[in-house]
Amino acid sequence: MTLAVEHYDCLVIGAGPGGYTAAIRAAQLGMKTACAEAFRDPAGKPVLGGTCLNVGCIPSKALLDSSHHFHHIAHEAKAHGITVEGLRLDLATMLARKDQVVRTLTQGIAGLFKKHGITWFQGSGRLRDGGQVEISPWEGGAPLTVSASHIIIATGSVPAALPGVPIDNDRICDSTGALAFTEVPARLGIIGAGIIGVELGSVWRRLGSEVVLLEALETWLPSADTDIARAAAKELKRQGLQIRLGCEVQGVERQGQEMHVAYRVGETIEWLVVDRLVVAVGRRPNTEGLGVEAAGVKLDARGFIEVDGQCRTTAEGIYAIGDVVAGPMLAHKASEEGVAVTERIAGQSPAVDHGLIPWVIYTWPEIAWVGPSEQALQLEGRAYRGGRFPLQASGRARAMGETAGLVKVLADAKTDRILGVHIFAPQASELIAEAVLAMAFDASAEDLARTVHAHPTLAEAIHEAALAVDGRPINL
Ligand code: FAD
Ligand code: NAD
Repeated sequence: MTLAVEHYDCLVIGAGPGGYTAAIRAAQLGMKTACAEAFRDPAGKPVLGGTCLNVGCIPSKALLDSSHHFHHIAHEAKAHGITVEGLRLDLATMLARKDQVVRTLTQGIAGLFKKHGITWFQGSGRLRDGGQVEISPWEGGAPLTVSASHIIIATGSVPAALPGVPIDNDRICDSTGALAFTEVPARLGIIGAGIIGVELGSVWRRLGSEVVLLEALETWLPSADTDIARAAAKELKRQGLQIRLGCEVQGVERQGQEMHVAYRVGETIEWLVVDRLVVAVGRRPNTEGLGVEAAGVKLDARGFIEVDGQCRTTAEGIYAIGDVVAGPMLAHKASEEGVAVTERIAGQSPAVDHGLIPWVIYTWPEIAWVGPSEQALQLEGRAYRGGRFPLQASGRARAMGETAGLVKVLADAKTDRILGVHIFAPQASELIAEAVLAMAFDASAEDLARTVHAHPTLAEAIHEAALAVDGRPINL
């Protein structure tokens, strides 16, 4: 039996960074708002926060931070005159801390929903025609039908599968499994040397695993600036991450506790023997069970929900945001689209500048960029000037003992407007914000060069790279 329930101004399906942000903003704008969310934590309890908070950005960064501390104490502290005897890894505590960080943040979202009077339907939503959504409660029982003037789909993405390598969540895992190994694998194989591959590979490498990444492409990280990718590859290799390029995985055989992975390199078949295997070959939009066809919501050829520049789907009154629509699969892209879509529903005219979405890869040092790479500008035939500054010449980087990185600023040859900023440095995730802000205000490289930067800071490397665009770095 289907019971009718009340009408909402705005109903959001999915409470990841896209959906929960949209719901909060809708409520702030005075809309009667509800959000359906199907995610459950490992104990089976319904939770908000989606991929990002539960099994993505937050737990991975918690482990990256913890493993960085461990590795730093084990390998770098000595150079600072600090000797630690009896250093020991307590992985159970490290994992429990990560889980607590996740719990605190997901409960925080629940608190925000309460504060804003947002109704949380704990179950999965399915689109019906006529602005209706059927919600199947997680505990079972009769579905509820909710109607809404505006429906926002924010159902995110799920890991892409690799034929011949079935995930068993024991020895062969996706990223979720790789956030919860209860012991450090002696030999860890990762298929895909993309963002998840190098971030989670870094975690386990720092904790002692031998890590091999099998990457299909011949070039590592082709979307990053070549100079940055080259510097990062060199440093990750030094840290012990073995990235093998041009590998076509054929399949995997389980022999006892060992995984034997067959992969082709050129004409040769090679084998990698590991104790744990992680598949990290990208993510795909999640529209399963959503009933898009019934509602007249079209998908594009790659399975993303088709939207116009304002996140409107092909069905009247239905919008889609975040990973389920095309564009970078990033939490901040999802949440900015969530804000913009609700503000448009409320009659405002916001815009998300998709050209100014920063990318960050949380290796150590971190990789971050905004705007096109130098090779992309060359392909485009764009006239530009570039300035580079190596961290070797940075006082702060020297003081930290972190001189592996560099900063590159690219500016239009004629107008000097900044086109792209590329960073490989500790805290690049924080440093990139300056570049995004500068570019959002159409700043020139000269504007950056004339901005006073505190000394000694890593941010001075951005200042110097901006000066270098005009051939006048001071400390190089
Ligand atoms: P999601 O966060 O995927 O949320 C979608 C939600 O919708 C889910 O909770 C799902 O349960 C729910 N849902 C789906 N279908 C239904 C339905 N029918 N009814 C009800 N609910 C439904 N991005 C970054 O920017 N920075 C990072 O550092 C970063 N690290 C990452 C690390 C890992 C290991 C992974 C896997 C991803 C990472 N990402 C990171 C990517 C980031 O998690 C996603 O881009 C982001 O979560 C997308 O947000 P979203 O709201 O579109 O979808
Ligand atoms: P990815 O696209 O970053 O990397 C996947 C890699 O797997 C690519 O290098 C690809 O060439 C390779 N690959 C594909 N098929 C393969 C095959 N058959 N054999 C070997 N290699 C293969 O995807 P991901 O690392 O799975 O992460 C998914 C998405 O999640 C990212 O693109 C990103 O949008 C998001 N994410 C972001 C962050 C962050 O912002 N720091 C962190 C983690 C994830």
